[in-house]
Amino acid sequence: MRLWSRELWRIGWWAILGVFLGWLLNAPSLGLAAGFAVCLVYHLRQLRALFQWLTLQPHNEPPAAKGMWGELFDRLYRYQKSQRITQSRLRSTLARIQESSEAMRDSVVMLDRHGDLEWWNSAAAKMLGLQTAHDRGQHITNLLRDPRFISYFNARKYGEPLTLTSPIDERCILQYQITLYGDDERLVMARDITRLHRLEQMRRDFVANVSHELRTPLTVLTGYLETYGELKEQLPPRLGRGIGQMEEQTKRMQNLVNDLLLLSRLEIDQGGEDHQPLVVGPMLDRIRRDALALSSQQHDVQVMLECEARLVGSEQELHSAISNLAFNAVRYTPEGSQITLRWKSLPDGSACIEVDDDGEGIDPVHIPRLTERFYRVDKGRSTATGGTGLGLAIVKHVLLRHDALLQIESHPGEGALFRCVFPATRVVHA
Ligand code: ADP
Repeated sequence: MRLWSRELWRIGWWAILGVFLGWLLNAPSLGLAAGFAVCLVYHLRQLRALFQWLTLQPHNEPPAAKGMWGELFDRLYRYQKSQRITQSRLRSTLARIQESSEAMRDSVVMLDRHGDLEWWNSAAAKMLGLQTAHDRGQHITNLLRDPRFISYFNARKYGEPLTLTSPIDERCILQYQITLYGDDERLVMARDITRLHRLEQMRRDFVANVSHELRTPLTVLTGYLETYGELKEQLPPRLGRGIGQMEEQTKRMQNLVNDLLLLSRLEIDQGGEDHQPLVVGPMLDRIRRDALALSSQQHDVQVMLECEARLVGSEQELHSAISNLAFNAVRYTPEGSQITLRWKSLPDGSACIEVDDDGEGIDPVHIPRLTERFYRVDKGRSTATGGTGLGLAIVKHVLLRHDALLQIESHPGEGALFRCVFPATRVVHA
C-alpha cells in the first residue's frame, strides 16, 4: 500500500512540475499533459522491460527497477524460483516412481478416466505387447480384447483378480488386478502366474491320478472282503472281526476316493454344458428320501417349497451338493431332530435352497473354515459318522460353478442353517 501511494505521489509531482513549467511558459494545461506523458513513457518502458524479461530470458535475474515496478519484478522472480524448485522436486519424485515401477517384474499400466492408456512400465510392454509409439492414448479394451477382460473392466467390481492367458503368448498365464484411484483413473496390474498355475495343475492332476489309480485295487479288495465276509461264520471269531473292520475301512477309503475324484472333476472341468432349468421340488423330495434312508427314519425330514421358480444348473451337481448338506444334517444331529429342506425366492430376485436343522449347531469360530478340505469341528465324531471331510468343499465348488454362494448360520445349541444363494440370473420365474 505504501508503494502504491508513493507511485501516486510520483505521478502527482510530475503533474505539478508540468503545470508549473507550463505556467512559466504560459501554457499550464500543456505542461500538465507533458507531466503525464513523462509518467506514461516511464511505465511503458518498465512494461517493455517486463515483457522482454518474461519472454526472452525468464531464467535470468529481473531488470533493475525502483518503486512498485522493482517490487513487482522481485516478487515475480521469487515466485518463479519457488515454482521451479517445486517442479524439479515433482519431476524427481515422478522419475523415482517410474524407476521403481520399471524395476517391478509385474506389469503396471496407468489409465485415464476414460480407460485410455497413459503410461506403462517395460514389464507391461513385454507381457501385454504394448508399444509406446502406437498404443499411448488407445483404449485398453482395444489392446486387451479378451471378452472376459472387457466384462471385468466394465463391471468395475475389482475385489477379485482375473486370471487369463497373455494376449501375446498363449502359454503365459496372467493375473489381472485393477485399482481405482484419483479422479476415476485406473491402475491395471498384471502378474505372471504361469509357474503357480502349472504347480496347481500338477497338484490337481496328481490327486486325480492317485484317486483313479486307487480305485481298482480298492474294488478288488472290496470284492475279496465281501466273499470272505460271507464265509465269516466258518472263520475263527478274531479273524471274522478283523474282516468286518476291513470292510468298514475299505468302504471309507472308497468314499474318500470317490469324493476326491468328484472334487478333481469339479476343479478341472469347465462345466456348464448340462445346465438347464430344473424343477427344484422333485430333486429335494429325492434328497429327503435318501436322507431318511441314511437316518433309518430316525429324523423328521421335511421339504418346504416357498417358490415356483426353476433353477438353472446341473441337476447332478446340485443334487450332490444339497445331498451332502442334508446328509450332514442327519449325521451331526441326534435322532428325532427336525431337518428342513427349503426352496425360496429372495426380494432381490435371487433364490436360495436352505438346509436347516435343530441339532447341536456349530461354534461360529469354525464357520469360516468349514469348507476347507478335511476341516472338521470334532475330528473323532466326524470319522465315526463316516464323513470324508470333503463334503462342504464339494458343496462350495458346485456352488462356485453356479455363481452361487454358501452362507452358514449357526450357534452352539441352536441348530445349523446352510443357505445356498443363487443369483437372479439363474432363477427362472414361472
Ligand atoms: P465331514 O465329512 O467331516 O462331514 P464336511 O465338509 O461335510 O466333512 O463337514 C465339515 C464339518 O462341519 C463336519 O466335520 C462337522 O463338524 C461340521 N458340520 C457340517 N454340517 C453340520 C451340521 N448340520 N451340524 C453340525 N455340524 C456340522
